[in-house]
Amino acid sequence: MTFLLIVEDELPIRELVSFVCEREGFEVVGAADVGEACAALKARRPDLILLDRMLPDRSGQSWLEDLKKDPETADLPVIMLTARGEERDRVEALDAGADDYIVKPFFPRELVARIRAVLRRQGQEKARVERSDENIVRCGPLVMNEARFEASVDGVPVKLSGKEFRLLHLFASHPGRVFSRAQLLEAVWESVYVDERTVDVHMLRLRKALAGTAAEDLIETVRGVGYRCRGL
Ligand code: CA
Repeated sequence: MTFLLIVEDELPIRELVSFVCEREGFEVVGAADVGEACAALKARRPDLILLDRMLPDRSGQSWLEDLKKDPETADLPVIMLTARGEERDRVEALDAGADDYIVKPFFPRELVARIRAVLRRQGQEKARVERSDENIVRCGPLVMNEARFEASVDGVPVKLSGKEFRLLHLFASHPGRVFSRAQLLEAVWESVYVDERTVDVHMLRLRKALAGTAAEDLIETVRGVGYRCRGL
């Protein structure tokens, strides 16, 4: 059974989330602060953590950064709960390593859909890692061979520069996941000192390269946050 840890200091929200998730067949344990969450994590490893950004003893975000640094917990999926309208908070949550974020107040159905999407994505990533000796990533009609630096859509080769290939490879390996510009700079340029507009320029070129193919709508802009691969 899928086991969730919900870290939220506001009791009504914690109870609502627990109720909704249990109704969906998840097993849930609640924690009111980071201290309780650490104890719960030690007692039993969850499949996913729902983490409020503002907690009484410590910020959820700084705890998330610790989780991502620890090899034991680095691959544990985390969905951050953030306050409405704080675009910068969402970018920071993603930069800190959150797999997704959800803005409060949220519809229970949306929360459950996000949880399922993150769990599904993690399952896909695991399956992909197991086949990684082939160095091949598939995403709908797109096939990428990393060892040969080749990409094709429905069997037709697509011409890409090195940066565009690496961008597309990153998106195709993580369907559904939102990447901020800063994350893309770090992953593809391996530098945070490059202007973020550089990312937009390369995304534009990547979209041009895919235009007219079955993968032309593969990458979508997430306003104010970054980009994501739709997953076809
Ligand atoms: Ca809170």
